[in-house]
Amino acid sequence: MAIGSKRHHSARRGGRQPALVLLTWYDASRRELPWRAKPGKASDPYRVWLSEIMLQQTTVAAVTPYYRAFLKRWPNVCALAGAPLDDILGAWAGLGYYSRARNLHRTAHTVASEHSGVFPATAAELRKLPGIGAYTSAAIAAIVFTEPVAALDANGERVMSRLFAVKERLPKSRAKLLALAQQIIPHDRPGDFTQALMDLGSAICTPRKPVCGKCPLARQCRAFALGLAEKLPRKMAKRVRPLKRGAAFVALDASGAVYLEKRPENGLLGAMLQPPLSKWQKIFPRAAQAIEIAPFTGKWSKRSGIVRHGFTHFELEMEVYVARFKSRPNGEGRWYSPDELPSAALPTVMRKVISHALA
Ligand code: SF4
Repeated sequence: MAIGSKRHHSARRGGRQPALVLLTWYDASRRELPWRAKPGKASDPYRVWLSEIMLQQTTVAAVTPYYRAFLKRWPNVCALAGAPLDDILGAWAGLGYYSRARNLHRTAHTVASEHSGVFPATAAELRKLPGIGAYTSAAIAAIVFTEPVAALDANGERVMSRLFAVKERLPKSRAKLLALAQQIIPHDRPGDFTQALMDLGSAICTPRKPVCGKCPLARQCRAFALGLAEKLPRKMAKRVRPLKRGAAFVALDASGAVYLEKRPENGLLGAMLQPPLSKWQKIFPRAAQAIEIAPFTGKWSKRSGIVRHGFTHFELEMEVYVARFKSRPNGEGRWYSPDELPSAALPTVMRKVISHALA
């Protein structure tokens, strides 16, 4: 049959053939990942859940050391449920999207206290847990509990967009891509199918320059037949992120301890630590204004240069003021010794601020 013929292009009429081809490739080429069960072995729901939460908006390379550290420190869901939130936030520091860590803790509590430490076994039940949305619940249900429910991460969405030459833009096309995946998911190996899409998207059907010449799905792939592989998936234009500016105040004592406050529980960087900050606005506060809002009266001096950080919805620039104190002034926060700082729940942007202050 010629590449591009209709029989290859319809999920319904193409039946399960793309899935079988994909699974054959997966059996020979699957990635070894620390949370992934060996072939023929049962998946551990705790490990898969932990990895799926960490992998939201984050790469495998960035997640792997965090995953290993979490598993070593908290080897099961009950151990995680028993940990103080601050310890979890400290261990999560640097991984970003901190609401995930708070939800992780809440879910661990729920599973430990309301489900006797056993994860619910269906996507519908999993979705009731904090921080587990449609994708994550389906992925866990398919991988761990072999529920034949389609789950597409960014890799999976890309592969499906190309395989069926879906021209609608992401994220609007999501429901259609999921429906197509649901039509071809093999009921005997839904988890392997889900992971095979992830692996193919990571190794071969890459965002730029997909390696169609080595792809097991090349004969079935509509985008390849139409010469559209590099043009799909189409995406909505990204919005320009607004720029916000502010000041940070790094107070040091004679031993090098730093004064830190805890952010409010909810919202951006919730419950994480930070040096005292000004509001974030369109312009930097003038030096005289800034010093008025500094947490303590002292000899504040502005460091040259600016700390920059990108959040999902805006860019941030901060000027950094530093003051040294012979005796520690008291505030609502607390002083962290140089020994405590490495494991403190400081997000990356606040670590950048402190490094800038100490440079
Ligand atoms: S043939 Fe090319 S575009 Fe199609 S699935 Fe394979 S790598 Fe992706």
